[in-house]
Amino acid sequence: MGEFADMILDGLVDQYTGEVIDGHAPGYPRSKRRVRRTYKKSDGDFKCEKCGRHFRSTEAVAQHAKDMHTPEGQAHRRKQRQG
Ligand SMILES: [Zn+2]
Repeated sequence: MGEFADMILDGLVDQYTGEVIDGHAPGYPRSKRRVRRTYKKSDGDFKCEKCGRHFRSTEAVAQHAKDMHTPEGQAHRRKQRQG
């Protein structure tokens, strides 16, 4: 009882499929699947090279970059904030 769970927790076997990964047990759960993306809040595949945020589309990145990383966008936001 619990042996298999221990194997998972030790990282000996894939936490999703139960397959032995590489014979090593690093001491934490892991998987042969690609490691899940490390970002969580912004869940897009498209990354802003300037600040590292992720977006769902190239358009969203472009819009973001325009708003956040151009003098025009910053002036625009400043104006909005002043009402
Ligand atoms: Zn950015």
